[in-house]
Amino acid sequence: MRTPLMAGNWKMYKTPAETQAFFSKFLPLVTGATHAEIAICPPFVNIAAAVEAAKGSRVGIGGQNVYWAKEGAFTGEVSAPMLKAAGCTWAIAGHSERRQYFGETDETVLKRAAAALDAGLLPIVCVGERLEERESGNTERVLEAQFNGGIAGLSAEQFAKTVIAYEPVWAIGTGKVATPDMAGAAHKFLRGLAESKYGKSAAAAVRILYGGSVKPDNVRGLMAQPDIDGALVGGASLEANSFASIVNF
Ligand code: PEP
Repeated sequence: MRTPLMAGNWKMYKTPAETQAFFSKFLPLVTGATHAEIAICPPFVNIAAAVEAAKGSRVGIGGQNVYWAKEGAFTGEVSAPMLKAAGCTWAIAGHSERRQYFGETDETVLKRAAAALDAGLLPIVCVGERLEERESGNTERVLEAQFNGGIAGLSAEQFAKTVIAYEPVWAIGTGKVATPDMAGAAHKFLRGLAESKYGKSAAAAVRILYGGSVKPDNVRGLMAQPDIDGALVGGASLEANSFASIVNF
C-alpha cells in the first residue's frame, strides 16, 4: 500500500513570522492525520523557521528547488547538502513555474533530482502538460518526454525514493482542476511508464501526486482515484485550515 503524501508548495509567500504562525495553527489540526505523510516546502529563507516550528511533529520540510553542485560560485543557488543540513527531507524538482520562468529543462530536472537523492533528500519531480499540448492531443507524448528526460535517468534504487507529481500546467493556480477521471488517466499512464522502465513492483510502489488547484472541496474525488497517491498543493496550502482539510480528506 502506498502511504499518501500531502505536500504544500508555498511558492514565494510568507515571512518567517508568518511561517511560525501557520505552524502554530496547522499542527494541532493534523495530529490525528496518521494516514498520510505531510510536507511543506516554504521559500528558502523560511526553511529554518519551518524546521524549528515543525520539530517533533510529523511534518517534513522541503526546498522548492535545489541546485546540483554541492557548493561553488553559483550566486543565488542552494545545494542539496545545504537543504539537508538545514533540516529538509524533501526537494521539489521541475515545478512548471521553474520550467516556464527560469529555463528549467528535463536535463536539469534530472540533475536536481539526482543531487537531492545523493544528499539524502527525497525528490518530488513535477511533470505536466500545457493547455495547448492537451488540446492538441499531446498530453501523453509530453509526459513521456518529461519522464524519459527528467526521471528515467535515475537508477532503480534512486527511483524507489522518488515521488512524481503530475501537475497539468493549465490547472496550476487557475482554479481549473483536472477532473478525477482526467487526472486518474494521466497517473495511470505515468505508472505505466514507470513499469516499462523500472518494472512492475517499482511502478506499484512509486507515489504519484496530483497538483493543480487542489482544494478542500475537490480533494476527495481526486484521492478516490486508484493511481492518485496524494497532492501537491499551492494556493490552498498557505492557510492552515484549508491545508489541514486537504490533509484530512
Ligand atoms: C503548485 O504550486 O504546485 C500548485 C499545484 O499550485 P495550486 O495548488 O495553487 O494550483
